[in-house]
Amino acid sequence: MPRPDEFLGRTALVTGGAGAAIGGATCRALAGYGAAVVVLDEHPRRARATADALQEEYGVAAHPVVVDVTDRAGVDRGLQEAQAAVGPIDILVNNAGMQLRTPLTEISLENWRSVIDTDLTSAFLVGREVARRMIPRAHGKIINICSVQSELARPGIAAYTAAKGGLRNLTRAMAAEWSGAGLQVNGLAPGYILTKMTQPLADDPEFDAWVRNRTPARRWGRPEDLAGTAVWLASPASDFVTGQVIYVDGGMTSVV
Ligand code: NDP
Repeated sequence: MPRPDEFLGRTALVTGGAGAAIGGATCRALAGYGAAVVVLDEHPRRARATADALQEEYGVAAHPVVVDVTDRAGVDRGLQEAQAAVGPIDILVNNAGMQLRTPLTEISLENWRSVIDTDLTSAFLVGREVARRMIPRAHGKIINICSVQSELARPGIAAYTAAKGGLRNLTRAMAAEWSGAGLQVNGLAPGYILTKMTQPLADDPEFDAWVRNRTPARRWGRPEDLAGTAVWLASPASDFVTGQVIYVDGGMTSVV
């Protein structure tokens, strides 16, 4: 079990950390165990407000960094800024993501690229920059926020499914290359979590019933349901766990 001060002296960077759902919940979980937090997001005011709230609520150092995670030059600049403000990053959570609900025959190349860039290439860009700094220190935890769509497809979300499936294998590739240098890289795959992204689905009575029936736990997940696994994957308790994708999905991927 992590100690209450498990991450004291550690710094975490959460992409999409200013989000109200999984990003925000992950920032709070890590700050709750004492981590300094870099809230990296493309929304300046939200990032500042999230960092201020973390500082106030948990008494940790928290620093907003405004970056579009699909922009290579921006990522480089943002990480330099983060490191100058709070020191080296010990824990990276690649959380920023987007969804696109369009039949596969109707997806434009531009929209396809936008999903792949946001949900997959961003983890490469941020992960590569952070790992370059973690490897010489022989220490680091990287958590890629995957999805049940890392494993399973559904009609209407092909780009997202391709990106999240890619993120599962990028997690394995990162683990293959970096675990020998003392890093652990894992995926955390949420099931259907009630958030802004999924609100349109929850508002559809048919889809809502499908989620509840398809999930053995018989409910939507909450962002806080992921916090314990995120803390575990960020802590020394998981030091021999790498290259894995942990499904926190109420049992959805275990049943047909
Ligand atoms: P969060 O509440 O964590 O918010 C994500 C944040 O990332 C938002 O502030 C968002 O801005 C920001 N963001 C989006 N694109 C970029 C970008 N290019 N650069 C910087 N910041 C960006 O969202 P969710 O909890 O809904 O999702 C978090 C992660 O969890 C995603 O990777 C998602 O795919 C994954 N996930 C979510 C599930 C769910 O049920 N919600 C289920 C499975 C996985 P904006 O608000 O403008 O988009």
